Amino acid sequence: MNIQLFNAPSEVVHDISTPPIGMAILANNLRKAGIKVFQDDLYIKSLRLLPRQFRDKWARGYLKHCLESGKKEEIASFSRKVLSNTRMRAGNVGISITSRYQMYPGLALASFLKEKGLTVYLGGLMFSIADTGVIKKTFHCLPQIFSSQLEFFNYLKSKGKIKEFDLTSLYPNFEGVPWKLYRTWIHYKRENVIPYSHEMGCNRRCVYCVTPATPYIQGDPLPEKIHQIAFLKRKYNSKYFFFCDCAINNRRDSFLQLLEELPKLGIRWGSFAALSYIDEDIANKLKRSGCSHLLLGVESGSNRILRLMGKAQTAESSSKILRCLWEEGIFVFLTIIVNFPGETEREFLETRSFLLKNQKYIGSVSINKFTLEENSIILKQPKKYGIRLLGRQDFLDYRYESEDLSWKQIVADGLRKKSDLERLMNRIRLRNFSKHPFSKLKNHLYAKLVLRSFPCDRLFDYKT
Ligand code: SF4
Repeated sequence: MNIQLFNAPSEVVHDISTPPIGMAILANNLRKAGIKVFQDDLYIKSLRLLPRQFRDKWARGYLKHCLESGKKEEIASFSRKVLSNTRMRAGNVGISITSRYQMYPGLALASFLKEKGLTVYLGGLMFSIADTGVIKKTFHCLPQIFSSQLEFFNYLKSKGKIKEFDLTSLYPNFEGVPWKLYRTWIHYKRENVIPYSHEMGCNRRCVYCVTPATPYIQGDPLPEKIHQIAFLKRKYNSKYFFFCDCAINNRRDSFLQLLEELPKLGIRWGSFAALSYIDEDIANKLKRSGCSHLLLGVESGSNRILRLMGKAQTAESSSKILRCLWEEGIFVFLTIIVNFPGETEREFLETRSFLLKNQKYIGSVSINKFTLEENSIILKQPKKYGIRLLGRQDFLDYRYESEDLSWKQIVADGLRKKSDLERLMNRIRLRNFSKHPFSKLKNHLYAKLVLRSFPCDRLFDYKT
């Protein structure tokens, strides 16, 4: 059997600098099972090779409208253009959809290829978290959807396409992806950032998360992983890596063992990390291992809200960790969630003061409004969090209200809080620029360029 894997194009394009790792791991597992695989990334190709006007035409819900109203000509014209930068090399096509913005372009492409008589399979992170029932109900005649790699491999086995399979390795095989298109400026040179996954799964239970407590996959033994990283470094001629683990320090023992080995490789790397057990000693080990940036889910400056969210950290412990990392020169990128159900104005102001108090240690921040998403713990127990469900927004989000606030007020509050904190952080950034023009500008560019390696998928779909 031959199969062509495509990373779907996107309606809203975030500039990225790493190839999709989920698809590359799937490609490796398929190859091991004896299948000939071709892969290509239509996301980066649409971004770099198609004119902006083309992307604008299909954004803002137009593709969804075409799919819902069965405008086959429009869907065909979109798909032909997207496929104009690639070669169809197999009769079986797997389309990977890892972000909400890839959903309609991916579905459009899938229905076009199915119409042409190809066998099409849909998979990727979105299908492991979104309600596929809703998608199927809205769009008839869709190809087969698989919510995990395990499901897909079991299907292939049941159809006699493969005999045996092994999903224990997380090694990504990137053969076929257009590496040149991901290059980003790092220190005056255009470089590639290589995504890699040390382990999979998360043992935490943040109540807003789309996949709390995902199963743990250890991947290959550590010496084999070190060998793989060295091989990827040589093959793609880059020392920059991004670890796509849910949190690189998810398991203390394996994290510390990894930190012992990484200095031998001479790489620079970034990763998502949890705000647990990082002290002066660990921050120093991180630095010596080549860690240059971490993405941390601080989420709130209010301890009551952190407890409600199911986070292990407190505002005080987060501050301490930020300071340790700053002292070692590790750039931190924080995420904050405003308007969590029940968040009072005072608690919102606590988050504001947390950012002000720790501004010196923060490299960059992303402020997000709380959204009630499919699969989350809070969706299953709305009463406990003082909310009432009002129905779906789309295949992923829900609308809700509370005792005191209507949905309209909740939306308005979320926007107000988000823009308030964004204004604050912009002011701080500007002030810091004028005080330390060179170092701050360097950090700013670092955030803008290197953090584009923020990968599309964290492999949540990798259920076994
Ligand atoms: S938000 Fe992150 S740390 Fe929390 S459960 Fe989800 S993956 Fe784990």
